[in-house]
Amino acid sequence: MRTPMVVANWKMHGRLAEARELAQAVRDGLKRPRGVEVAICPPFTALAAVAEVLAGSPLMLGAQNCHWEESGAFTGEVSPAMLAELGCRLVVLGHSERRHSSRETDEEIRRKVAAALRHRLQPVLCVGETAEERRQGLTFTVVEGQLRAGLAGLPAEDLVRCTIAYEPVWAIGTGLTATPSQAAEVHGYLRGLLSELGSKESAQAIRILYGGSVKPDNAGSFAQEPEIDGALVGGASLQAASFITIAKKSAAKSGASKE
Ligand code: PEP
Repeated sequence: MRTPMVVANWKMHGRLAEARELAQAVRDGLKRPRGVEVAICPPFTALAAVAEVLAGSPLMLGAQNCHWEESGAFTGEVSPAMLAELGCRLVVLGHSERRHSSRETDEEIRRKVAAALRHRLQPVLCVGETAEERRQGLTFTVVEGQLRAGLAGLPAEDLVRCTIAYEPVWAIGTGLTATPSQAAEVHGYLRGLLSELGSKESAQAIRILYGGSVKPDNAGSFAQEPEIDGALVGGASLQAASFITIAKKSAAKSGASKE
């Protein structure tokens, strides 16, 4: 029912020549990915260049953020309409680096999710607890609050167009990872909440990715968990060979979907 997906988050990396080269290498290594969908999210400045490289390939283009308005006096912002026009199919929203460094609020993230959906972009809504929150036993409370706030007010038909990424903040860029069973426990909890927000059937159709120091040597163990539907990959997506291996290891066996 759910085909795994692997999303490369290049963050603020990739001048034009590097971006083209990396996208081309990923395209060459994943000509016909089986049992996995693959997306690349370069910085805004490289979107058009990477769109050209990916044209005609099954790899999808995505962005790392968007504003909720269509256009207007929002200096430095980029609207979902602009991203859709460039060929983006998805947009990462509520990444912890934006929640923490750019002080994005749950309400802003909710507006972004709704705006992305209006422009037929698939939101990849990130949720995750800090190390301190986990230590205090607040993991479920935190991810529940972020999930409910980010998806508030969405009709069931829009809910199923969203992808969720569970990204424990303490695992992002640190080399630490949640164990596959720790991640699966949170994914199961999130799926239960998605059933409440929509229906059991719609919750079964929504992908929940894991993110946080996913590397070629641990990707396979996450993929074995039925509740984990792929990966959001930061650091390791900057090396074509690593990202290609992660994508291959995340693929559902013999092209089958999960669940
Ligand atoms: C991320 O940027 O979403 C991420 C998970 O980064 P990393 O893979 O480097 O931990």
